[in-house]
Amino acid sequence: MFKDIHEDYLRSIIFGFQDALVSTTGVVAGVAAGSNHKDTVVLAGIVTIIVEALSMGVGQYQSEKSVHQMDKTGRHTDNLYIVGSLMFVSYFLGGLVPVIPVVIFPLPASASISVISALVGLFILGFLKAKMVKVNPIPSAFEILSLGGITTAIGLVIGKILKIT
Ligand SMILES: [Zn+2]
Repeated sequence: MFKDIHEDYLRSIIFGFQDALVSTTGVVAGVAAGSNHKDTVVLAGIVTIIVEALSMGVGQYQSEKSVHQMDKTGRHTDNLYIVGSLMFVSYFLGGLVPVIPVVIFPLPASASISVISALVGLFILGFLKAKMVKVNPIPSAFEILSLGGITTAIGLVIGKILKIT
C-alpha cells in the first residue's frame, strides 16, 4: 500500500504526526497543569497547532529544497509543495488528537484523556512506521512512546513550577 508513495512524502507524514503528537500534547499538558482554565488550554492548543503546522510545513519545504539542490542521484523526484503541504496537514491532524479532548471535556480529566490519546497515537505511529520499514514494531512503538511520555512530563513539570492562578 505504501510502496507507491515517494519516501519523502512518507517522511513528511510520519514526522508531522509524530511532532504534533509530542509537542502539542506537551503544550496542552503543561498549560493545563499551570492554569487549569479550560479556555486558556484550548487557546494554547489551537495556537500551537496552527503556528507549528505552518512553521513545520515551511521548514520541511525549505530543508527538502536544500536536499534537492545537493542531490546528484536523481532520486528526489518528489514535489516540494507536496512535501511541505503533507507536513502541514499531518501536523494539523496530529495536533487535533490532544486538543479535541480539552475542547469537549472539562478539566482536569480532559488533560489526562488528551495525554492518553496522544500516547496511544504515538504507539500506533511507531508500530506502523516500523512495519513500513520492516523492522520489529514493538521496540519502535515503545521508543516513540517514551519520547512522547518524556516530553509531556517535562511540559507538566514546567506547568506546575510556573503555575498561575
Ligand atoms: Zn526529496
